Parts: sequence; structure tokens; C-alpha cells
Amino acid sequence: MYDKNLWDEILKIISKSVDADLVDTWLKPANIDVGTGEGVILSVPNKFFKSWIDKHYSKIILSILKDEFGIERPLKIIIEADKQPHKIAAKKSEKKNVPAKQSLLYSEYTFDNFVSGDSNNFAYAAALTVADGNFSIYNPLYIYGSTGLGKTHLIHAISNRIRQKFPKLNIMYMDAETFTNEIINVFAKHKGEHQQDQIESMKERFLSADVFVLDDIQFLKDRPKSLEFFFNIFNGFQMQQKQVIITSDESPQEINMAERMKSRFASGFQAEILPPTVEERVAILHKKAEELNTPITEHVAIFLAENTATTNSRELIAALKRVTLYASIEKSEVTEQLISKALKEAGMLRRETTAISPQQLITIVAESFNVKISDLVSKKKNKSIVVPRQAAMYLLKEKQGLSLKEIGAHLGNRDHSTVKHGIDTITQKIKDEDFVSDMIKKIIKKL
Ligand code: ADP
Ligand code: MG
Repeated sequence: MYDKNLWDEILKIISKSVDADLVDTWLKPANIDVGTGEGVILSVPNKFFKSWIDKHYSKIILSILKDEFGIERPLKIIIEADKQPHKIAAKKSEKKNVPAKQSLLYSEYTFDNFVSGDSNNFAYAAALTVADGNFSIYNPLYIYGSTGLGKTHLIHAISNRIRQKFPKLNIMYMDAETFTNEIINVFAKHKGEHQQDQIESMKERFLSADVFVLDDIQFLKDRPKSLEFFFNIFNGFQMQQKQVIITSDESPQEINMAERMKSRFASGFQAEILPPTVEERVAILHKKAEELNTPITEHVAIFLAENTATTNSRELIAALKRVTLYASIEKSEVTEQLISKALKEAGMLRRETTAISPQQLITIVAESFNVKISDLVSKKKNKSIVVPRQAAMYLLKEKQGLSLKEIGAHLGNRDHSTVKHGIDTITQKIKDEDFVSDMIKKIIKKL
């Protein structure tokens, strides 16, 4: 079975050493399957990809599989058509018949296999309401939360159910990246006076949808043309009282967009998805393990849920896959010991790198930057305090695996989006500013 999450993880690691455009062009269209008898299968769109990847990237892919995931098997590159004629054929016909190129809907993301609970009750309930055809209550439905918490799963579940229940309705699902590509294409292909006609006709094609779903709107923040276009059709949908569903990693209030847009996006119903509780994590693990045909005991599910250094469902599932793979390679039962070993090797064991508490970590950060702890947890916003505070956020996440919510609680009760913003900012600074990266390195040595 192809494992898009694993492939995404691998791409993230490759991106550290390979130019992003190259990764986008050559590697993004591929997919990986590690669970076959033939070794690791990498499926690619055509023979050019095959020879290019073979020549330039097979070594790095193999070494990442080995070092990061403990997978040491031969790599076989196949052309997608050999393996999945079905999917390709579907894609092609979609291109011809559907108004705009849509992103693929995953039929496996349904309500049945979505775990609802404290972390996502509102989003879940609103999603079900919309999916059952109540299109005017929550419009737009805006679902937000950090990465890996089930936003895409939930809106696929909505889309799938609407397609099933109301086959006549035209439901258009797009991730923001596909959306942007569509727009760029039209702008690039048609210059001059034709352009405006083309844009109008594209707009009409979009507006012919009865329900429009846009995944990851934050992607449009730095793409003003696409954002403006989206806002335009969004208003068109609103005027026709057609349902729009949006996901984002930030609330409409926080997202960096023009006020006129934010207030419109916030005018329907907003629901935040938080990291899953331990009980939800256990339930998610059971569901995924069943789907993967490797059911686990309650004891194993609880141990994994409590000991994986993440509260993000995507990473939790990656940990589960790693553990089951490990067990099959070692031909062993899944025991606590095996889980600890598998997670530890991947740096995924909760608080494995340090015996110190979050409080001690914050103390070390404060001392290293020569600021007071009381300042770190205060509301002060001067740079000399903000940078150390963000450094503490970063280290609590990277080194102790705390959730954004937990980190916020340790640093003056900040909400998770503030913490996320802090971590994003300092991550960039580590890349750009030697002083910051040296300081972080120094602190890590002390931990
Ligand atoms: P996001 O879009 O928020 O980044 P995804 O929807 O891609 O997250 O979810 C990541 C993975 O976690 C998917 O495999 C998804 O099925 C799973 N997942 C997340 N939340 C849940 C949940 N509540 N119940 C079941 N699976 C979940
Ligand atoms: Mg998503």
C-alpha cells in the first residue's frame, strides 16, 4: 500500500539538502510502498522520472530509509501506470470532463474511521451536519488546527458523503496548491486581452460547483493573485448561498490576510481541532492498526499513545507503522521493549533525549540568554525577550516532544497558535542568523 505520509516525511528530510524546486519537480509526484515482497517500491509517473531519480536520488532515499526509518531493503522504481492503471485513468478522465482540475478524493477518509472526541467535537459535528446536506447552517465552515490533526481527513469525509448521498451535486474539492496551479496556468498561458476572458470563464467553471472545498487556505497567504481569485469566487458562492468549506492551520482572525477577507471567512462557523487526548490517540491507533491489517492490543495502543513524542495524529500513525514494521522485521511480538527500541531509534520516544523537566529546560534557556524566567513567561514583547522565549518553545517541541498546547502552558499560558508562530519564526532565524543557531546549539549541548 502506498504511504503518502511516509513519502512526505522523506521529502521533508531530502529538502534540507536538495533544492526545493528539484524536490517539487522530481520527487513530489512519486509515491512509496515499503510493505511489498519486492523491497521498497517507488512509483513514478514516467520513464524520465525513473531514470532521473535512479541516477540522482536513489542513494539519498536509501540512506534516509535506513537512518531515519530503520528500513534496509532494495529500492525498485516502477512507472505508475504499471502499478496503478486505475488511478491514472481516473485522473485523465477527470481532466477532460470536470470543469477544473480537482484534487483526488481519498475514499478511505470517511466518518466511520474518524475518531471524534474532546479535541474535535465541534468540527466533527459541524462536518456531519454539512455532509448530511444542511448547506446553509455553517457557511462557510472553516476548520482549523495544526498539521496532522485530521483536517484533510474530515473534509474528505464530508466530500465523500455528499457525493454518495447527493450524486447529482457537483462537489469540487481542491487543496490550495492545486488551486494555485490552476490559476497560475491560466495567467501564464493566456496573455493580453484573452487573459481576462479566460479568467472569467475559469471563474464560471468554478462557480458551477454546488459545494466548494478548499484545503489548506494558508497556502494562499503569499500568493496574492490566487488568494484574490479565491476570494472572488468565494463571494460568488456566498451570493448563491452555496456551501464553502475551508481548512487552515490558523483561525481566520490570526491568518495573515486582508481584513475584508478575514471577516468574510469568519462569518460562518469556525471550529478548531486540537491535539487528540490520550483516549483519542488510543482509538486512532486501533483504527489505523485495523486498517493496516495489524491489529494491536489495548495495552500496546496505550503504551504507544503515551510514549510517542508527539500529539499529532499523523506522526502517531507513523510511529505505529514503524513499530509494526520493526516487529515484522524482527519477527517478534509487539512488546513494550520493542516499541521503546523502535521509537528511540527514530528519535520518537517521548522525552528520551533528556531527563530534565520542561521547567529545567526553560531555566537553562533563560540563563543562556541572560534573561529572567519571569520575563520569558511574561507578556513582554521586546526582541531581547521574544527570541529566548521562542527558543524555549522550539526546544520544548524538538527536544521534549511537548504539544503546542503544553508548551503554551509552560510559557505564560500562550495559546497554541502563538506557540506555533514562535516556533516557525525561530526556525527561520536558526537558518538565517548565526547568533541564534549558535545559541541553540550551545543550549542543546547543555541539555
Ligand atoms: P491535517 O490535514 O490536519 O494535516 P490529516 O487529515 O492529513 O491531517 O491527518 C493525518 C493522518 O491522521 C491521516 O492518516 C488521518 O487519517 C489521521 N487522523 C487524524 N485525525 C484523525 C482522527 N480524529 N481519527 C482518525 N484518523 C485521524
Ligand atoms: Mg491536510
